[in-house]
Amino acid sequence: MARKFFVGGNWKCNGTIDHVKKIVTMLNESEVPSEDIVEVVVSPPFVFLPLVKALLRSDFAIAAQNCWVRRGGAFTGEISAEMLVNLGIPWVILGHSERRSLLGESNDFVADKVGYALSQGLMVIACVGETLEQREAGSTMDVVAAQTKAIAEKITHWTNIVLAYEPVWAIGTGKVATPAQAQEVHVGLRKWLSEYVSSEVASSTRIIYGGSVNAANCKELAAQPDVDGFLVGGASLKPEFVVIIKSAT
Ligand code: PEP
Repeated sequence: MARKFFVGGNWKCNGTIDHVKKIVTMLNESEVPSEDIVEVVVSPPFVFLPLVKALLRSDFAIAAQNCWVRRGGAFTGEISAEMLVNLGIPWVILGHSERRSLLGESNDFVADKVGYALSQGLMVIACVGETLEQREAGSTMDVVAAQTKAIAEKITHWTNIVLAYEPVWAIGTGKVATPAQAQEVHVGLRKWLSEYVSSEVASSTRIIYGGSVNAANCKELAAQPDVDGFLVGGASLKPEFVVIIKSAT
């Protein structure tokens, strides 16, 4: 089954109204391959979601960067999946390593969020990835398999999930995984899905790479057979994001 190339832009905790307007204008004016070839999803901070929704071209979609683990209520400072649905935001990024490491989100907590977000009709970019110490200890596959297993145990279908392999040591560091390193883990994840979920899910689920992707390295990474796109942080705030989108072809 053909997997459509997917490029997500994670703006993280950056921007002002003016800055957001400039990025959206740049995206709206860009010429990129059609929606049949590449799916583009940008993820602004919560407060800018309505603004971006109002201004962004209709062939690009929007993701929130997080949501609460269950139904909203007395959870000060949180944003619920129902609110995102109500706002017309179709996607959410969950399990980003910055939230896992800085805010202590465990595999189970992330998996609960994924399950709840899917149950409310959101599509999920679910992030997994190992630290440098874990890679050096040879446990990369064990780590990403455990993160994926926790999610698999909480969900019944994979249609609305994109799995993002984001080695922690490559995020925001300028140290990109080599195409071979990315391909190796993506194949490992696909094998895991085939063994523990189903061969259908393994062949249809998009596995994207994230970690210091930029205009210079995207083409070679995109050429790997199991790299189905990218989750881009820093470079998604710059014009080079368009070059990364174009690496789909
Ligand atoms: C990310 O935050 O998901 C990410 C991949 O960041 P960067 O591209 O800046 O490494």
